[in-house]
Amino acid sequence: VKEKKTFGIHWFRRDLRVAGNSALLNNWKEHDGRVVGLFCFDSQFLSRSDFSNNRFAFFLETLSSLKQELRAAGGDLFVVDATPQKAFPQFVKFFERSPKWQIGKITYNRDYEPFARQRDREIEKFLKTEKVSFQSFRDHLIIEPEELFKAKEGEFYQVYSPFSKKWLDLFQTETVRKRIQSQEKGLEYLFSDKKKKDLFRLKWQDLLEETFSETDALDRFIEINKKKVSVPIPKTGSKAIRDRLEIFKDKIKNYKEDRDVPSIDGTSQFSMYLKNGSLTSAQIVTYFQLHDIHYKQEDGPARFLKEIIWREFYYHILFHRPDVENEAFLKKYKDIQWENNKEFFQKWCEGRTGFPLVDAGMRELNSTGWMHNRVRMVVSSFLIKDLLIDWRWGEKYFMEKLLDGDLAPNNGGWQWAASTGCDPQPYFRIFNPWLQAKKFDPDGDYIRRFVPELAKAPLKSIHDEEADRTVYNYPAPIVKHAAQKAKALSLYKL
Ligand SMILES: Cc1cc2nc3c(=O)[nH]c(=O)nc-3n(C[C@H](O)[C@H](O)[C@H](O)COP(=O)(O)OP(=O)(O)OC[C@H]3O[C@@H](n4cnc5c(N)ncnc54)[C@H](O)[C@@H]3O)c2cc1C
Repeated sequence: VKEKKTFGIHWFRRDLRVAGNSALLNNWKEHDGRVVGLFCFDSQFLSRSDFSNNRFAFFLETLSSLKQELRAAGGDLFVVDATPQKAFPQFVKFFERSPKWQIGKITYNRDYEPFARQRDREIEKFLKTEKVSFQSFRDHLIIEPEELFKAKEGEFYQVYSPFSKKWLDLFQTETVRKRIQSQEKGLEYLFSDKKKKDLFRLKWQDLLEETFSETDALDRFIEINKKKVSVPIPKTGSKAIRDRLEIFKDKIKNYKEDRDVPSIDGTSQFSMYLKNGSLTSAQIVTYFQLHDIHYKQEDGPARFLKEIIWREFYYHILFHRPDVENEAFLKKYKDIQWENNKEFFQKWCEGRTGFPLVDAGMRELNSTGWMHNRVRMVVSSFLIKDLLIDWRWGEKYFMEKLLDGDLAPNNGGWQWAASTGCDPQPYFRIFNPWLQAKKFDPDGDYIRRFVPELAKAPLKSIHDEEADRTVYNYPAPIVKHAAQKAKALSLYKL
């Protein structure tokens, strides 16, 4: 009997890139370049309550760039319209029968969301039963939840500051440095201009020939979803990401000062790429040379790394407390009696509350799929503590609209604003939306950009709670901040 040739399958999920992809690299090495990519569309995903057509469009475009890049390097990506629970048994059966090919190993990078962990457990169980070899890797985070505990094994950090201290200690160990370096050197790195046409040595066509019934679903999904997109979709692919990194190179030194001013384009806008793994924090650390930042450092790069650590922090929390997906981290705030006024909620969504900074933020979100971090903090606090609406309503709306919508940081951000999360804003510290606007948009530039009714209004009438803005065809404030603040305080005093 002629021996079958082995090959690898890399299962892409939220690691949509070639460069520095830990699991793909491993499989590639093991099979001497004979590895193909697979992406399974889970239709459950399309009906998830946090689904967004805009984010999906960005995701599909990213997949499409990935496919082109893989193909240019001699590889391939197959996008199947089937859940992994359905697709894997089909592939396993197919290759059992194939006279030529045998699956050597399936690789994938770990995901920390409750839904994904459950899915992965099911697939792993199946592959074990079928005796198909598989291996998962760390890729999405620099330090994984199971690596970072308090001194007592098993106790996780619930406060950011000691977490980040410990994170930075681990970050500077040889082990973590090496893992970042190995990612840096992996496959064709993002910044290598060498075209390696034959980096990969296998296409799906070679494997499947005419016998396989599934057809690639990517173009069909792109076509169907296109009609539902309501914001401009940013560029995808390694060239676009490289450009983003380069743009931020000039900005990182001023990041500490500029990051809080929404009228300045002073943040990286990496979040949507980080979300789907077309860029990773390890690549960012390498590019901006953040390896040696120490805990007390206070400049732009240090402040920026702190934000990357916030992101990791929220992933750790979600991993250890998957219940935060549905309820308050702090149990004592589980049953707050929100007023949940639907009309107020609608006005908040549309950016018609009569609070200029809040409305500018919501309109930025609705028209671009992104919102500045400071304004996210203001609009979330406003929804919860001025309109007395359940934070989960806002969390869901953000997920419907944000191109970077991501369960861990979104939930973390909302629970922070609601004072129900780990290490949150204390419940009695309530943002005054008027003061926030004066402080962070002092000249009203951001407000004027997104609220055109106020484009010609004098500064005083933009920032003054008592000013009459209806003369500009702009709504009067729907609530009084001071009165709502008092009500909010009493809601928290259970
Ligand atoms: C209510 C609320 C909801 C949010 N929802 C999301 C979300 O769905 N997805 C998301 O990625 N971020 C979310 N954030 C965090 C933050 O607002 C965004 O990550 C940031 O605005 C993205 O822009 P940037 O890439 O230019 O950030 P930069 O300021 O350039 O920061 C660099 C990276 O650090 C991480 N980061 C920055 N700030 C935070 C933060 N406060 N918490 C966690 N990570 C952070 C992000 O990955 C970001 O890309 C939310 C914050 C709040 C207050």
